Amino acid sequence: MGTETLFWKDPYMKEFEAGVVSANGREVVLDRTCFFPQGGGQVGDSGFLNDEKVVDTRKDENYNVTHFLERESSFKVGEAVKGKIDWERRYRIMKLHSAAHVVYYILMDVFGEKCKLASSGIVNEKKDITDYLTDSSFEREKLKVIGGKANELIKKGGEIRTWSDEQKPNYRFWEIDGFPKMPCGGTHPRRLEEIGEIMVQRGKKPGAGKERIEILLR
Ligand SMILES: [Zn+2]
Repeated sequence: MGTETLFWKDPYMKEFEAGVVSANGREVVLDRTCFFPQGGGQVGDSGFLNDEKVVDTRKDENYNVTHFLERESSFKVGEAVKGKIDWERRYRIMKLHSAAHVVYYILMDVFGEKCKLASSGIVNEKKDITDYLTDSSFEREKLKVIGGKANELIKKGGEIRTWSDEQKPNYRFWEIDGFPKMPCGGTHPRRLEEIGEIMVQRGKKPGAGKERIEILLR
């Protein structure tokens, strides 16, 4: 069955009530949650269950979501708890995650077949880090152009659509007007213009034939 995924139903949900499914020491599984569990490069949410601090969130293959507490709790199976995510942190992650998709499309436009995603990257509240397989080198001047185009697209605004696959509800998609949909299980804002201005910079070269892009919010 797994945990009900409130963070997809409403990515802006900050607080919720849920029942404890299991509680072992620092690990608590709930029947529903708006804590996003680490996946697809997006880090797990932090926040509180009642007065207990949640430091990380992970899922298993059956989508049971485990909340990792800072210290051992006395939660009991069946107990009702109030959850609250660190919204400021999560909202930054949402913006950076959508920004990373925008930058990906701009890179595809500019470099075409000569550039491919190396992996799903990492996105936390500070920045998005994504590696690309490419023979081109991402010099400062090129990245200025990429950043400019990405900011133009974001500023123009528009709807960001996310939805679940009909057969596999935990398999999700992300789409904006004018570009093909892409698979993504992250949490995202509903509008492009919510992202605000971004900064695109070159990260430490991850290896031969690869380039690293870092995205920050202004
Ligand atoms: Zn994504």
